[in-house]
Amino acid sequence: MTDTHDVIIIGAGHNGLVCAATLAKAGRRVVVLERADRPGGAARTRTFAPGYSVSSGAHFLNQFPVSLIEELQLAKHGLRFAAKGLATVALQADGRHLRLDGAKAAATDLGAVDQQAFAEFHAEIASYAAVLAGAFGRRPPRLVDSDWRDRLGLLKLGWDIRTLGRDRMREVLRIGLMNIHDLASERFEDARLRSAVAFDAVLGTSMGPRAPNTVMSYLYRRTADAFGHAGPSIPVGGMGAFADALAAAATARGAEIRLQAGVASIVVHEGRATGVVLDSGEVLNASTVISNADPRTTLKGLVGYRELDAGFVRRVEGIRMRGMAAKLHLALDALPSIPGLDAANAGDRLVLCPSLEGLDEAMNPSKYRQFSAEPVIELCIPTLHDPSLAPPGKHVISAVVQYAPVDLEGGWTAAARAEFEARIMARLETVMPGIGSLVSSSELCVAPDIQSEFGIHGGHWHHGEISVDQLLMMRPVVLFSQYAMPIDGLWLCGAGAHPGGGVMGLAGRNCAQEIIRKRASA
Ligand SMILES: Cc1cc2nc3c(=O)[nH]c(=O)nc-3n(C[C@H](O)[C@H](O)[C@H](O)COP(=O)(O)OP(=O)(O)OC[C@H]3O[C@@H](n4cnc5c(N)ncnc54)[C@H](O)[C@@H]3O)c2cc1C
Repeated sequence: MTDTHDVIIIGAGHNGLVCAATLAKAGRRVVVLERADRPGGAARTRTFAPGYSVSSGAHFLNQFPVSLIEELQLAKHGLRFAAKGLATVALQADGRHLRLDGAKAAATDLGAVDQQAFAEFHAEIASYAAVLAGAFGRRPPRLVDSDWRDRLGLLKLGWDIRTLGRDRMREVLRIGLMNIHDLASERFEDARLRSAVAFDAVLGTSMGPRAPNTVMSYLYRRTADAFGHAGPSIPVGGMGAFADALAAAATARGAEIRLQAGVASIVVHEGRATGVVLDSGEVLNASTVISNADPRTTLKGLVGYRELDAGFVRRVEGIRMRGMAAKLHLALDALPSIPGLDAANAGDRLVLCPSLEGLDEAMNPSKYRQFSAEPVIELCIPTLHDPSLAPPGKHVISAVVQYAPVDLEGGWTAAARAEFEARIMARLETVMPGIGSLVSSSELCVAPDIQSEFGIHGGHWHHGEISVDQLLMMRPVVLFSQYAMPIDGLWLCGAGAHPGGGVMGLAGRNCAQEIIRKRASA
């Protein structure tokens, strides 16, 4: 039994690492315990076929605040970018692709009215998302039993909304709970523009474009602008290299990171977390235990519901975290041809979501535990920016594919996987004719695989759906949104806590700051 640390962090996901770096800088003796053999959680790079590597979970960095990259000195710790500020191309089977680059929408036949409408929409949404981004950088204010910091947080939020001006304030209240289908249809004539916007609202969620509050999930994604990103970036070496830089930053500040050190349980003594038991049976003690695992895994799996009151357990069980995104990794003998796409743009973020109706239809089967017959896809060819990921002259495709429910009826049997992969390939053939003949190896990871690779319950992108009832002071559950769990000394620092998922680092950062503040005021 050892007792040489003040803080134990379970999980070296990017949030756990940010949390560790922040606490270590404040002088805490921190140990991070990670079950996997490398840090990063769902921000990781691994080999999927001999000679071919890929970011096996997240493949784009677009929400991690640039200010945090600088503060953690990640460049000094090895972070390099292969590509920054990528544009999005919405691919079309007829070659009339739409390219969105910041506020600029372009296609050979895109009308001036839609171009102007998109520029205005982009700026308008950026102003709303900036308010949200401000709130993401602070703990969510408590509405009952509030202290002066909660009241200050509320005032700040109110003030930020007021500075939008009367018209935008009114508009954000009108659209805030709307669905993205209606908003996109209201703002644009062009079908490609409508579906490209709607796709971004539902990516990583289990919602379709007509689900209420998908405008909110669109705003969530667009906080990236306020965090200093002109578009998605790709680190040299994939997302695992980003995690390595974070781990190096935490270590340089004095944190210890132990890999292949899975935690079997959190020790609770008289209502207080006192340490953890590792899979190996080793016991580590500390006065503060922080979990980077998702809320269900932490509270049900590591603590055990017997330690918690029934009302709280019910709320944790009620968190919606039904994974819907799959990853497809392709090893290619050559670059696929994409008719109609300028070769210079093949390295952009590519999206395959032909229409709003198609997006809705892609989601519908998932309600009945079926996968999409015509899935929607976000993909990139990272080797166009970073050839080190494949043998010379060869390429990799990394694709996020929806909708593939974790709880597929009949289970993800070999036959179901083969059929879903065939559907995805058929879809890719519509914009990359002949791609099938270039594939030397492929790997399909559906939500149960994501669950076992990264330890995320349900394989959910965000450790819990991004929707109004699971955001801000309701995340992970109402009354426990300020990172402290109802067991003394136990905290949550992962994507299941405020503000949520995506490689953003703010859950880890806010949690650490809360612990530091609590100690200072004790
Ligand atoms: C398919 C997919 C694609 C995605 N694409 C993107 C993208 O392009 N861009 C983006 O920004 N986001 C993307 N995301 C979302 C993003 O990856 C996650 O939201 C983010 O990684 C969550 O980070 P985290 O640190 O909170 O938790 P995680 O990354 O889940 O890390 C948690 C860590 O805890 C460890 N752990 C869990 N239990 C234990 C235990 N008992 N003992 C020890 N260790 C434990 C796990 O091994 C893991 O390392 C994607 C997610 C998925 C699933």
